[in-house]
Amino acid sequence: MTKAIKAVGMLSGGLDSLLALYLMLEQGIAVKVIKFQTPFFDWTITDCQSAAADNEEFVINRSGLTAGERVLDCEIELVDLSVNYLQMLHNPRYDYGRNVNPCIDCHILMLQTARSIMEEEGAQFVFTGEVLGQRPKSQRMPELMLISHQSGLEDQLLRPLSCRLLPTTLPEKEGWIDRDKLPAFQGRSRKPQIELAKQFGIKDYPTPAGGCILTDPSYSKRVKDLWEYVGKDKITWEDYNLLKLGRHLRINPNLKIIVGRDEAECNILRQFGKERTIIELVDIPGPVVLLDKSSDPYYEIIAARICVRYSKVRNLEKEFPVRIESANEVKIVNVRPYKLEEVEIWLIN
Ligand code: SF4
Repeated sequence: MTKAIKAVGMLSGGLDSLLALYLMLEQGIAVKVIKFQTPFFDWTITDCQSAAADNEEFVINRSGLTAGERVLDCEIELVDLSVNYLQMLHNPRYDYGRNVNPCIDCHILMLQTARSIMEEEGAQFVFTGEVLGQRPKSQRMPELMLISHQSGLEDQLLRPLSCRLLPTTLPEKEGWIDRDKLPAFQGRSRKPQIELAKQFGIKDYPTPAGGCILTDPSYSKRVKDLWEYVGKDKITWEDYNLLKLGRHLRINPNLKIIVGRDEAECNILRQFGKERTIIELVDIPGPVVLLDKSSDPYYEIIAARICVRYSKVRNLEKEFPVRIESANEVKIVNVRPYKLEEVEIWLIN
């Protein structure tokens, strides 16, 4: 019989949190599952497309779950974390990981939010799919304890997959769950999780579409470039979405150029171009090039030459017609392409 004990479970979209959910349901806990969303999590190019088309700052996830859906007899809620996310990203108390991933602060923010939901729901505790020692910076014992404390959850936070290796939590003390029936997973190996998935009969478990893009080295370089030249306080979600697309070239402190790499990216960049300057070759296949809003004619010529460089044109001596469209005017200019080595020094990658 189901106990009158309720927990809020954080679903990441991967196997670990799904196993944690199974373990809680197996022990008769009623669960409300929450899945956090920002444009950085589980991103795909389709999201950028939607954001551009709808002028939305935030796009619903691709995890296969939708709000209100019931899986394994538990309610799922998608929770938009983007409102407070940038403030945390720009000023993390516990610094960044290897790239621009503020994992400890990010976990704290998610768990603070989960705690509020727990209180609203009248639930007794929160659980996650975290595994002790799985990630070097945010899942060692001191960090797990720090996160429990700073989230305000303390012993109301249970990590079922590593339960027997961690200090006893409230649901164990109260006898709501049986600690001895929970695992003692540790480290980076996935074998125990795969074995447990087999025991639960889980064959097709979700995998995150693109993970967290803040851990991507190339994306992180682009982010750091924006932080340096634009300033953290001026950067919007649209800027962060644009960093996911195309090649990015920093020409000087005032000028950055984005070059679409394929048709899909070019189509999306065109939609982002409403308040920017868009440059394309006339009657010759080539990329869409996007300039920042404050372009001037000198910069437009640089961008036009870059546009020809990244087309199929290989004649460096000849001029080619390029269309420059800004909010106020459309004009055609004839320019020669840059040499590849002239352009490569500007690439942020
Ligand atoms: S990898 Fe990304 S989503 Fe995960 S904790 Fe770190 S910053 Fe947050």
